[in-house]
Amino acid sequence: MNKDIKYKIKKSSRAKRLRLAVYCDGSVVATVPRGVKQSTIKRYIADKEQWLLDKINFFKSIDNKAISNFSEADYMRHKEEALKFVEKRVKSLSKKHGFSYNKVMVKNHKTRWGSCSKSGNLNFNYKIIFLPKRQQDYIIIHELCHLKELNHSRKFWLLVEEIMPNYLKIKNELKNQGLFYR
Ligand SMILES: [Zn+2]
Repeated sequence: MNKDIKYKIKKSSRAKRLRLAVYCDGSVVATVPRGVKQSTIKRYIADKEQWLLDKINFFKSIDNKAISNFSEADYMRHKEEALKFVEKRVKSLSKKHGFSYNKVMVKNHKTRWGSCSKSGNLNFNYKIIFLPKRQQDYIIIHELCHLKELNHSRKFWLLVEEIMPNYLKIKNELKNQGLFYR
Protein backbone atom coordinates (compact mmCIF):
# COMPACT_ATOMS: atom_id res chain seq x y z
CA MET A 1 0.00 0.00 0.00
CA ASN A 2 1.30 3.37 -0.99
CA LYS A 3 1.43 5.43 2.20
CA ASP A 4 1.47 8.67 0.21
CA ILE A 5 -2.20 8.48 -0.61
CA LYS A 6 -3.88 10.61 1.98
CA TYR A 7 -7.60 10.43 2.31
CA LYS A 8 -10.45 11.80 4.33
CA ILE A 9 -13.18 9.63 5.72
CA LYS A 10 -16.74 10.80 5.52
CA LYS A 11 -19.17 8.71 7.57
CA SER A 12 -22.59 8.54 6.02
CA SER A 13 -25.73 6.90 7.27
CA ARG A 14 -27.21 7.05 3.78
CA ALA A 15 -24.30 5.35 2.00
CA LYS A 16 -24.97 1.72 1.14
CA ARG A 17 -21.40 0.83 0.32
CA LEU A 18 -17.88 2.20 0.49
CA ARG A 19 -17.16 4.79 -2.15
CA LEU A 20 -14.05 6.65 -3.21
CA ALA A 21 -13.84 10.01 -4.92
CA VAL A 22 -10.85 11.94 -6.18
CA TYR A 23 -11.30 15.66 -6.57
CA CYS A 24 -9.44 17.90 -8.94
CA ASP A 25 -7.19 19.25 -6.21
CA GLY A 26 -5.99 15.67 -5.77
CA SER A 27 -7.80 15.08 -2.51
CA VAL A 28 -9.34 11.68 -1.87
CA VAL A 29 -12.53 11.17 0.09
CA ALA A 30 -13.83 7.80 1.21
CA THR A 31 -17.56 7.74 1.95
CA VAL A 32 -18.16 5.05 4.50
CA PRO A 33 -21.47 3.54 5.64
CA ARG A 34 -21.93 3.24 9.39
CA GLY A 35 -20.39 0.22 11.03
CA VAL A 36 -17.60 -0.42 8.54
CA LYS A 37 -14.33 -1.35 10.21
CA GLN A 38 -11.15 0.69 9.83
CA SER A 39 -9.35 -2.38 8.49
CA THR A 40 -11.98 -2.85 5.78
CA ILE A 41 -11.53 0.74 4.68
CA LYS A 42 -7.75 0.31 4.55
CA ARG A 43 -8.03 -2.84 2.50
CA TYR A 44 -10.50 -1.26 0.11
CA ILE A 45 -8.21 1.70 -0.50
CA ALA A 46 -5.22 -0.59 -0.99
CA ASP A 47 -7.18 -2.51 -3.63
CA LYS A 48 -7.96 0.70 -5.47
CA GLU A 49 -4.47 2.12 -5.22
CA GLN A 50 -3.71 2.13 -8.93
CA TRP A 51 -7.05 3.65 -9.81
CA LEU A 52 -6.50 6.36 -7.23
CA LEU A 53 -3.00 7.14 -8.47
CA ASP A 54 -4.23 7.34 -12.07
CA LYS A 55 -6.95 9.78 -11.08
CA ILE A 56 -4.64 11.91 -8.99
CA ASN A 57 -2.12 12.08 -11.82
CA PHE A 58 -4.83 12.96 -14.28
CA PHE A 59 -5.88 15.95 -12.23
CA LYS A 60 -2.27 17.01 -11.84
CA SER A 61 -1.76 16.92 -15.58
CA ILE A 62 -4.78 18.93 -16.70
CA ASP A 63 -4.23 22.57 -17.17
CA ASN A 64 -5.73 24.42 -14.27
CA LYS A 65 -3.96 27.63 -15.08
CA ALA A 66 -6.96 29.53 -16.30
CA ILE A 67 -8.43 29.51 -12.86
CA SER A 68 -5.59 28.85 -10.44
CA ASN A 69 -2.90 31.21 -11.66
CA PHE A 70 -4.32 34.27 -10.01
CA SER A 71 -2.51 36.20 -7.33
CA GLU A 72 -3.69 38.15 -4.31
CA ALA A 73 -3.15 41.29 -6.41
CA ASP A 74 -5.59 39.98 -9.01
CA TYR A 75 -8.11 39.48 -6.26
CA MET A 76 -7.68 43.05 -4.98
CA ARG A 77 -8.00 44.33 -8.52
CA HIS A 78 -11.19 42.47 -9.33
CA LYS A 79 -13.08 42.02 -6.09
CA GLU A 80 -15.16 45.22 -6.31
CA GLU A 81 -16.23 44.43 -9.83
CA ALA A 82 -16.97 40.83 -8.86
CA LEU A 83 -19.08 41.87 -5.90
CA LYS A 84 -21.10 44.30 -8.02
CA PHE A 85 -21.67 41.66 -10.65
CA VAL A 86 -22.65 38.94 -8.20
CA GLU A 87 -24.99 41.20 -6.21
CA LYS A 88 -26.82 42.19 -9.35
CA ARG A 89 -27.14 38.68 -10.73
CA VAL A 90 -28.15 37.12 -7.40
CA LYS A 91 -30.80 39.79 -6.98
CA SER A 92 -32.32 39.23 -10.37
CA LEU A 93 -32.19 35.42 -10.26
CA SER A 94 -33.61 35.23 -6.75
CA LYS A 95 -36.42 37.60 -7.68
CA LYS A 96 -37.22 35.54 -10.74
CA HIS A 97 -37.22 32.20 -8.89
CA GLY A 98 -38.49 33.26 -5.49
CA PHE A 99 -35.49 32.98 -3.20
CA SER A 100 -34.69 35.23 -0.28
CA TYR A 101 -31.17 35.58 1.02
CA ASN A 102 -29.32 37.58 3.59
CA LYS A 103 -25.94 38.86 2.39
CA VAL A 104 -23.79 38.34 -0.68
CA MET A 105 -20.02 38.27 -0.37
CA VAL A 106 -17.06 37.69 -2.64
CA LYS A 107 -14.06 35.64 -1.54
CA ASN A 108 -10.76 34.49 -2.90
CA HIS A 109 -11.50 30.78 -2.60
CA LYS A 110 -8.88 28.32 -3.73
CA THR A 111 -11.06 25.31 -4.44
CA ARG A 112 -14.66 26.35 -4.57
CA TRP A 113 -17.00 28.52 -6.56
CA GLY A 114 -19.40 29.33 -3.83
CA SER A 115 -21.00 28.47 -0.54
CA CYS A 116 -24.19 29.11 1.36
CA SER A 117 -24.51 29.44 5.12
CA LYS A 118 -27.37 28.45 7.39
CA SER A 119 -28.07 32.12 8.02
CA GLY A 120 -28.66 32.71 4.34
CA ASN A 121 -25.36 34.34 3.42
CA LEU A 122 -24.01 33.56 -0.03
CA ASN A 123 -20.29 33.55 -0.81
CA PHE A 124 -18.87 33.48 -4.30
CA ASN A 125 -15.41 33.09 -5.69
CA TYR A 126 -14.48 36.40 -7.34
CA LYS A 127 -13.18 34.46 -10.37
CA ILE A 128 -16.80 33.88 -11.33
CA ILE A 129 -16.50 37.06 -13.42
CA PHE A 130 -14.10 35.27 -15.77
CA LEU A 131 -16.56 32.49 -16.59
CA PRO A 132 -19.12 32.27 -19.38
CA LYS A 133 -22.63 33.37 -18.43
CA ARG A 134 -24.17 29.90 -18.32
CA GLN A 135 -21.55 28.79 -15.79
CA GLN A 136 -22.01 31.93 -13.71
CA ASP A 137 -25.74 31.31 -13.62
CA TYR A 138 -25.29 27.68 -12.67
CA ILE A 139 -23.05 28.62 -9.75
CA ILE A 140 -25.48 31.26 -8.52
CA ILE A 141 -28.53 29.03 -8.94
CA HIS A 142 -26.71 26.20 -7.15
CA GLU A 143 -26.10 28.41 -4.12
CA LEU A 144 -29.60 29.89 -4.22
CA CYS A 145 -31.07 26.37 -4.13
CA HIS A 146 -29.02 25.73 -0.98
CA LEU A 147 -31.15 28.38 0.69
CA LYS A 148 -33.98 25.85 0.49
CA GLU A 149 -31.97 22.61 0.65
CA LEU A 150 -28.74 22.91 2.59
CA ASN A 151 -27.27 19.67 1.22
CA HIS A 152 -26.83 17.79 -2.04
CA SER A 153 -29.85 15.55 -1.67
CA ARG A 154 -32.01 14.39 -4.55
CA LYS A 155 -34.46 17.11 -3.61
CA PHE A 156 -31.72 19.68 -3.99
CA TRP A 157 -30.75 18.54 -7.50
CA LEU A 158 -34.40 18.43 -8.56
CA LEU A 159 -34.73 22.02 -7.48
CA VAL A 160 -31.66 22.99 -9.51
CA GLU A 161 -33.00 21.07 -12.50
CA GLU A 162 -36.36 22.77 -12.30
CA ILE A 163 -34.70 26.16 -12.71
CA MET A 164 -31.94 25.05 -15.05
CA PRO A 165 -32.90 21.89 -16.99
CA ASN A 166 -29.44 21.60 -18.63
CA TYR A 167 -27.53 22.09 -15.38
CA LEU A 168 -25.75 18.72 -15.57
CA LYS A 169 -23.93 19.66 -18.75
CA ILE A 170 -22.74 22.94 -17.26
CA LYS A 171 -21.80 21.29 -13.99
CA ASN A 172 -19.60 18.84 -15.89
CA GLU A 173 -18.02 21.61 -17.90
CA LEU A 174 -16.99 23.32 -14.71
CA LYS A 175 -15.67 20.12 -13.27
CA ASN A 176 -13.56 19.30 -16.32
CA GLN A 177 -12.24 22.81 -16.39
CA GLY A 178 -10.41 22.34 -13.12
CA LEU A 179 -11.65 24.15 -10.09
CA PHE A 180 -13.70 21.69 -8.16
CA TYR A 181 -17.37 22.35 -7.83
CA ARG A 182 -20.02 19.98 -6.63
ZN1 LIG B 1 -23.56 22.77 -3.19
